[in-house]
Amino acid sequence: MESGKIENPKKSSIGLSEKHGKKIVVKKILVASGKGKSSKASSSCSKGLAIGFFLTACHMSEVREMELIKYPNPILSQKCAEVEVGASGVSEILDEMSKKLYEWEGAGLAAPQVGILKRIVVIDIREEPPHLYKLINPKITRKSEEMVESNEGCLSLPILREMVFRHASVTVEYLDENFKEKQIEATGFLSCCLQHELDHLDGVLYIDRLSKFKRSRAIKEFYKLQEEKPEDGGE
Ligand SMILES: [Zn+2]
Repeated sequence: MESGKIENPKKSSIGLSEKHGKKIVVKKILVASGKGKSSKASSSCSKGLAIGFFLTACHMSEVREMELIKYPNPILSQKCAEVEVGASGVSEILDEMSKKLYEWEGAGLAAPQVGILKRIVVIDIREEPPHLYKLINPKITRKSEEMVESNEGCLSLPILREMVFRHASVTVEYLDENFKEKQIEATGFLSCCLQHELDHLDGVLYIDRLSKFKRSRAIKEFYKLQEEKPEDGGE
């Protein structure tokens, strides 16, 4: 999710501290990439294209630089698989995704946005004090009946912004990078951001939360915006 504001922002009620996990040498993860450098995938990725990929912790950046997957790449519509508890390589993926989150100036980034079809998310909504959430297998276990209107953007749909309805508060349970069970009680922008990123793990984009009419209008607007900014296609 792109940095942004919602109508009635409130502070998140929990700050969790996280530490880097252990170093792991070799790992195998499921990666689907539209145009990964080392991937055999072509840029015209079709649904279901998911290739096994070996990453070596110390050489991960040499093996594959994470690239942003943008709409309408069908990877963004796929449901992600749960991460096996204790699976190797996850800590490195979280670190690399966190780097990209700051590089691309997003508030949140879900693994399918970098071509990894696993239930992994990083979030930093730039509150004070700043906090980076690294989430493995996150699940919404409670959502408020109260809804708020959230002004959202998405790194995978550059420039476009739309108003979406979200639950005002949610509880999310997840595993941290050491596979420890954690919980976030979120309100305001963090709540909206969590819902946005967790949707990505089920192949749902924020524009899919719009009415049919508004969605198709948003898609037209998206393509128009890309034509107006062909040099970088994004923000
Ligand atoms: Zn997004």
